[in-house]
Amino acid sequence: MPELPEVEAVARTLRPLVERRKIRCVHVIHAIATKPQSSSYVRRIAEGQRIQSVQRRGKYLWLQLTQGIVTLHFKLDGRLLWFPSAKEMAEVENPHGSGVHLDVVFELDKGLLGFADRRHFGRVHVWASEAACPALAGLGLDAMSRDFTAARFAELLEGSKRPLKEFLLDQKRVAGIGNIYSCESLWHGRLDPRRRADSLKSAEAHRLHKAIVSVLARALECCLHPPPDFRDPEWWFQGLEDILRAYDREGKPCRRCGEPIRRIAQGGRSTYFCAYCQK
Ligand SMILES: [Zn+2]
Repeated sequence: MPELPEVEAVARTLRPLVERRKIRCVHVIHAIATKPQSSSYVRRIAEGQRIQSVQRRGKYLWLQLTQGIVTLHFKLDGRLLWFPSAKEMAEVENPHGSGVHLDVVFELDKGLLGFADRRHFGRVHVWASEAACPALAGLGLDAMSRDFTAARFAELLEGSKRPLKEFLLDQKRVAGIGNIYSCESLWHGRLDPRRRADSLKSAEAHRLHKAIVSVLARALECCLHPPPDFRDPEWWFQGLEDILRAYDREGKPCRRCGEPIRRIAQGGRSTYFCAYCQK
């Protein structure tokens, strides 16, 4: 599932392609992608509007329109496609006569933006404003924003009795960190994921904050080299596994102390950590 760095890389790559462009028409090819909103409602809100900017908060990406917004939530496998013309889209669509999967297509005054999720978990929704979208309104501090300071983060930790791993996954407190980067941040911060959030000493809270900031920055660099290729339906982020130190490394030696990385279940998700050097 794309977390903050992946979505930020998508936002940065998308901006020059769609900002200032007008949405001429919205084609909802698979109605499930806009559920529970109807395709006619999506068209009514979005058609004829200009895309003023591409915004991101947490794992959410949205298009700020002249009036209203379009949210794009990728869930597990959702992705964006962009083509300069319908002709080029049709060519990619039928390279072997099989056809590329597309759920929603925004026909712009220059280019076409497609949203695709073969597994149909991803969603495209329209809202009257940012505040009217419950998912956006409920998000906490964005982990890559200027407001995400060590002091603010320490306050949030003090207010939670939950294990550190579950605390980091709670999008209502800090937005953007998922299963992968929570494991990585705790490994870099040398903290046991089972510890209670409010048990951290000031120095430990600072260490974890620093770890989160650097883990996300490094992942973003990786996601931008190479940047997302919206013209390739098979494109996906590359090289992320090379920067991971804990996630998905069960049984492999810890890169710090050499002891095997352990996997445990926390809140129904897998946590990977080193029980020897994460205290
Ligand atoms: Zn270790």
